Amino acid sequence: MTVRTRFAPSPTGYLHIGGARTALFCWLYARKHGGTFILRIEDTDLERSTVESVNAILEGMTWLGLDYDEGPFYQTDRFDRYRELAQRLLAEGKAYHCYCTKEELDAMREQQLARKEKPRYDGRCRLRREPRPGVPPVVRFRNPEMGEVVIEDLVRGRVVVRNSELDDLILVRSDGSPTYNFTVVVDDLDMGITHVIRGDDHINNTPRQINIFKALGAEPPLYAHVPMILGADGARLSKRHGAVSVMQYRDEGYLPEALLNYLVRLGWSHGDQEIFSIDQMIQLFEIEGINHSASTFNPDKLLWLNHHYIMHSDPAHVAHHLRWHLGQRGIDPTTGPDPVAVVKAQRERCKTLAEMAAASLFFYQDFDRYDEKAARKNLSQETRPALEAVYAALEDLTPWSREAIHDTVAVTAERLGAKLGHVAQPLRVAVSGTAVSPPIDVTLELLGRAKTLARIERALDYISNR
Ligand code: GLU
Repeated sequence: MTVRTRFAPSPTGYLHIGGARTALFCWLYARKHGGTFILRIEDTDLERSTVESVNAILEGMTWLGLDYDEGPFYQTDRFDRYRELAQRLLAEGKAYHCYCTKEELDAMREQQLARKEKPRYDGRCRLRREPRPGVPPVVRFRNPEMGEVVIEDLVRGRVVVRNSELDDLILVRSDGSPTYNFTVVVDDLDMGITHVIRGDDHINNTPRQINIFKALGAEPPLYAHVPMILGADGARLSKRHGAVSVMQYRDEGYLPEALLNYLVRLGWSHGDQEIFSIDQMIQLFEIEGINHSASTFNPDKLLWLNHHYIMHSDPAHVAHHLRWHLGQRGIDPTTGPDPVAVVKAQRERCKTLAEMAAASLFFYQDFDRYDEKAARKNLSQETRPALEAVYAALEDLTPWSREAIHDTVAVTAERLGAKLGHVAQPLRVAVSGTAVSPPIDVTLELLGRAKTLARIERALDYISNR
């Protein structure tokens, strides 16, 4: 059997953490087995689906590197096919027209509730043969009355549902639009899906979908329902818990591989291994390793992983993403040091690329003002001689190298009879505007002589005008 999986988001918002995890699991499973990964956009809800959301989903998939082999398929392009199969089920007596009005359905519901029964459609139109003039019918599925549906769920194990608990669900609404449970089955069938991996909020749909498969004379795929993701408070993960959109994580400076590594561990494990390269994930991923209980989203762990990847990935790769963040802040990275060198200098103290970009702006553009506290302490009449002396020493320094800069700062301090920090810290505030930067020799080397000298001059002016 060639594995065929699909990710089937409804484009009613951005790509969120839960969706991305589902997509990742489907993608990994297909990649692991040399199978096919399909993207299907479930956009039949015309009121809630938007083009922006489709684009956000595609953008998120691209950023995460979850490439699909087929699609994106749009359900709105497939209405003829849904109609065709609805007709077939009608012709075979496996579906029927239902002419019940809203009033009738409401009354049915009330009576059932009064009898303390679970509200469900009682199937009264199964026998009604005459159309009701003026009432556009819906198409209902004739769910089997007897027996049970068995789901051999790859995560949950065997789930058994009695058919008597399922009612005749609507396949096609009175306006002719097909419903979710119907389109999913038609698509999973037509697209030859072998494994449906999705959130367990869909588990109640699965027995209905299996019955529709059978009515269409087809074997249902295998199902794997993945437990939910919760916030720290135990409620289902939502905006209240902070960022849930994949693209927001990009904007906040996460690397896609860090997010993928985090997501793969969120609800799946391989022993107690925490770090997985993409290749390792593909190699090791198994549906059997999916946890049976809900997982809790832990932003601190994601941040830790992000820092791990910033520290240990090829700096050229990290720099590629840093360039994007600099660009977001209006910086042209060619106007300053090579971002690869900046990554090497900054990676230890920056847990996100947004942080790194913010802490590296001074390499590329002049800052507007000094950090107040840093300036009060370091840019004063008291530190003026140190800044003047180091300016003179740096003016003609050759080569402009880390080692030479280090020696110069050290010798300057020695001459002044001061500690190294007495020179280095005012210098740092002068060139970066803040009290934090990479080691001073690295900082100056990256900044270059011209910018260094100009900023010391500016700091001396600042001191004079204080
Ligand atoms: N479109 C559904 C959703 O976004 C997923 C359907 C499925 O995976 O079967 O929740």
